[in-house]
Amino acid sequence: LARVRYAPSPTGYPHVGNIRTALFNWLFARHNAGSFIVRIEDTDQARYVPGAVEAILDGLRWLGMDWDEGPEKNGAYGPYFQSQRLDRYKAAAEKLIASGHAYRCYCSSERLEQMRAAQEAAKVPTGYDRHCRDRCELGPEGVTPVVRFRMPLEGRTFFHDIIRGEVAFENALLDDFVLLKSDGFPTYHLANIVDDHDMAITHVMRAEEWLSSTPKHIQLYKAMGYEPPLYAHLPMILGSDRSKLSKRHGAVSIIDYKNQGYLPETMVNFLALLGWSLDATTEIMDVKKIIENFSLERISKTAAIFNIEKLDWMNGSYIRSLSLDEFTDRARPFLEAGVPEAAAYDRDYVKNALALIQERVKKLGELRDQPELTRFFFYQHLEYHAVDLVGKGMTTATTRQALQSSQDRLEKLDEFDIENMENEMRPLAAELGLKPGQLFGCLRVAVTGQSVSPPLFQTMAVLGRERTLSRIHEAVQ
Ligand code: GLU
Repeated sequence: LARVRYAPSPTGYPHVGNIRTALFNWLFARHNAGSFIVRIEDTDQARYVPGAVEAILDGLRWLGMDWDEGPEKNGAYGPYFQSQRLDRYKAAAEKLIASGHAYRCYCSSERLEQMRAAQEAAKVPTGYDRHCRDRCELGPEGVTPVVRFRMPLEGRTFFHDIIRGEVAFENALLDDFVLLKSDGFPTYHLANIVDDHDMAITHVMRAEEWLSSTPKHIQLYKAMGYEPPLYAHLPMILGSDRSKLSKRHGAVSIIDYKNQGYLPETMVNFLALLGWSLDATTEIMDVKKIIENFSLERISKTAAIFNIEKLDWMNGSYIRSLSLDEFTDRARPFLEAGVPEAAAYDRDYVKNALALIQERVKKLGELRDQPELTRFFFYQHLEYHAVDLVGKGMTTATTRQALQSSQDRLEKLDEFDIENMENEMRPLAAELGLKPGQLFGCLRVAVTGQSVSPPLFQTMAVLGRERTLSRIHEAVQ
């Protein structure tokens, strides 16, 4: 059975590219009824960011990616934090030293720096010069050595990548990389292969940037006498200008997308399409359909382009497909962050107001960042200047007359509904010698305090007779 893992390093908030890796692993596990394991690779003490593990797990939870083993879950292969598995890595390093596949290196950081500077000056590839590789004597007293891998100096390392096919690297170009640091912590390479083996991982799906680490891992597996997992290196994600995805292309942390009001179902759909496709045309797919159809064969080799316009379009489409109740539940926190007054209203009123907005937003965050979308539904008093009231090609006097007559007509309506308003107000415009747009324009300002709003009569219907009329009345004063 497939066992796949998502192995984030808690060095910051999870980047969308990283979450795409998590998603592909999760989709693969769910498609194959396998296990999705979360393993926290927290061996780089210097780069550890407090709160990052929580942020990563929150991101997964938000997107509905449940894990079978990992933090907060029991599992037969735990612990799932590398910092709690140090003994395993030490034992592996000892085993490799004993079998001649690794050696202790006592080189000081000064020496390594000088070596590197000399290599750079000579314009030769940088890398450890294997100074300690064949030295038999122990290093100076008081110096804790690192453990390095004894890389074969000749030949090539081959492996099969499910997405890329056969891959080969010249061993001579591979460094005698560090396995165990002097602080007793393993490097990524050692911890990664020990855990993938111990946790019985069958498929390693990770970003393409790790491709060049894979020959090191293959050599390590061989030296340990382990069978390596299958590999699938996922295509890079580029911004629409084809440069590496960065802050310039919009938010990059998954939490930012949540805060901007993208829906989790949008993100799952969108991220799934960054490197995978169902066919040449299908864009909108719910997670069930993606799981059903997910396969490694349809992952592309070429870089995926992160197109924010497409994300916005897709989110708008998912927002429109929500039931009004669901939209209300999800939109309300954003609404109240932008228009705190809304908190005082009952759900039905808020729902009726939001019904006029659902079609118009692409991100829920617009409700928070653009209070003008909804504030007129909730403010007790509107602020506008009398001059704003005066319609195009109208005067203060004709505006006042138009508003007064509107008030008279609206007052008489039996039902304060859209159809009745239409039936009264269109003829009124003609009677007043105004274009409907002129009359509706000044009514809109009177009723909403703005020249832009959802359709006027729908807005008035939500506001209700009393509030609409009192606003018109106030405007006429
Ligand atoms: N800890 C690595 C990362 O943060 C894991 C890479 C891998 O999957 O092997 O991406």
